[in-house]
Amino acid sequence: MEEDRSAKFSPSKLDCYKNCPKRYQYRYVDRLARKRKTPETVLGVAVHTAFEELYALVRGGRAPATPEVQAFFDAAFDEGWDDTVQVKDARFRKDDWRKVGRDCVETYCRLHAPFTEDKTIAVEKRVGFPIEIDGNEYRIEGFVDRLALTPDGVFEIHDYKTAKSLPDQAHADADWQLALYEIAVRRDWPGAPGVRLKWHYVRHGATLTSVRDAAARERLLGELAELIERIKRDHEFAPKPGPLCDWCEFRDLCPEFAHGVKVDALPPEKRREDDGVRLVDALSAVERNRRRLRDEQKALDAQKGELEDRLAAFADAAGVAVVAGSEEEAAVSFKEEVRLPAKTHDPERAVELEKEVRSVPALWEAVARLDGHALAEGVRERRWSAELLSAAEALLARFGRRETARAVRLRRRRGSDEE
Ligand code: SF4
Repeated sequence: MEEDRSAKFSPSKLDCYKNCPKRYQYRYVDRLARKRKTPETVLGVAVHTAFEELYALVRGGRAPATPEVQAFFDAAFDEGWDDTVQVKDARFRKDDWRKVGRDCVETYCRLHAPFTEDKTIAVEKRVGFPIEIDGNEYRIEGFVDRLALTPDGVFEIHDYKTAKSLPDQAHADADWQLALYEIAVRRDWPGAPGVRLKWHYVRHGATLTSVRDAAARERLLGELAELIERIKRDHEFAPKPGPLCDWCEFRDLCPEFAHGVKVDALPPEKRREDDGVRLVDALSAVERNRRRLRDEQKALDAQKGELEDRLAAFADAAGVAVVAGSEEEAAVSFKEEVRLPAKTHDPERAVELEKEVRSVPALWEAVARLDGHALAEGVRERRWSAELLSAAEALLARFGRRETARAVRLRRRRGSDEE
């Protein structure tokens, strides 16, 4: 059984779990050391390195000119770009990425030179704080790109982003990476009159700022504790496929992609011989047939309904109960029925009805039924109080039978562009 034994968490580690528990497991539980280098990661590291060197000089009393900072970028970029860089879009070559980075540096320098708007306290500074959860002590840690002090005594936590997209203010106000760093900074400098969080989207020359109040920080600590508890309780680390899968370094291991990765590496004739491919192709053919038959069945059902309506009208008008055909005959009958609101079609009235029936206990006892599915789901999702859960678990243990249910669902493969 998989189990997380970490005592330290960083915002990126926690984000990794939120995005996909399986990727988290590979990285932090199984500790598989894999790094995926892409043009975006090389660009990001090189821009950060350039700004680190820039502020090292500023702290020493000299503001470098833009070409000098671009030279820092070039050196880091050339060092990072090697044969292991995985280029997804071959239309953009190394020098195109270099230009993006140099432009980022140029834009930043133009907006901030001579870099005297604040005083840099540290660059790439490790910050952190302890947190106790359920009697266990953990540590939250991370690196602040740049920590600065403004003339009004406010601390500013700066973060550089080289992303192509520019998020909106709501995104900045919901971000928790810098908000966690703020908690660490406030503990290190308890007298600080304020802390501002700043993201520099250097491709756009835009800066987003967010300020959090004490209540927001309290809420954040609560969410943090809840997430760490969830990680510690998790023994399955279920994969969560999404857009980030395209950048995942564990696709060949992931249950969602491993078979696809394996067969994609085969030549087409070999791929078709793979047992899994053959089974899925056969299932697809059967599914196509079923869909065709279902469509035919639907059309036949519609025809049948229409003919039945006409037959009922005919029998009613003719005053007969049986209408004769050549070889068969149709018996027509009319019956009054009471239809009640169902949870699927009229949920509000269905709830109201249930409330009314419950108010007459003897009636409720006579017509209510046990929902076994809800009982099992409630236990699986730990929905109730400890007392209720233990009673429900005892019932499941006594009356339940463990079976492995299989579910197979066909869907289009990621990256497949067929209709
Ligand atoms: S490929 Fe996707 S689902 Fe699988 S581990 Fe990676 S991120 Fe998770």
